[in-house]
Amino acid sequence: MFAPFDVQNDRVNTCRKCKFYKQKSKTCGTPLLGNEVKFNKKNIKLCGCFMDVKTRFRFARCPANKWRDDHKLTEVEYKELKELLSHTIDKVTGVQNKQIAILHRKYLNSNANPSSCRPCVISHINDLHKVIDQYEG
Ligand code: SF4
Repeated sequence: MFAPFDVQNDRVNTCRKCKFYKQKSKTCGTPLLGNEVKFNKKNIKLCGCFMDVKTRFRFARCPANKWRDDHKLTEVEYKELKELLSHTIDKVTGVQNKQIAILHRKYLNSNANPSSCRPCVISHINDLHKVIDQYEG
């Protein structure tokens, strides 16, 4: 689940101009740990990620919301997806099966359909967990 190259480049260029970017380590704030900073009168937590890597992931996000690509999830979409996945641990209802297929198509440009094939549904769920993992960085 990689972002297109032009999106990756755009993100890297934005980071290089950002005051929170650490040139030496190429990280967003303190390497690995991240740190809290004030931005637009709000406290935000920098991720500490290595931006050469993070910018490649399609659903990665900038904690300051500076990236202008439309490959990121909105917070509402993230919460919706997280909520859905939290209820599909032991069993999947028909409605959830449908919703999983819809979100799989939406975020992964797939042709997923609701399925009675358990391994197929599990595979779709796992793909959607990867979307969440990228978003959460
Ligand atoms: S991810 Fe955002 S906050 Fe972090 S260095 Fe890049 S532009 Fe700055």
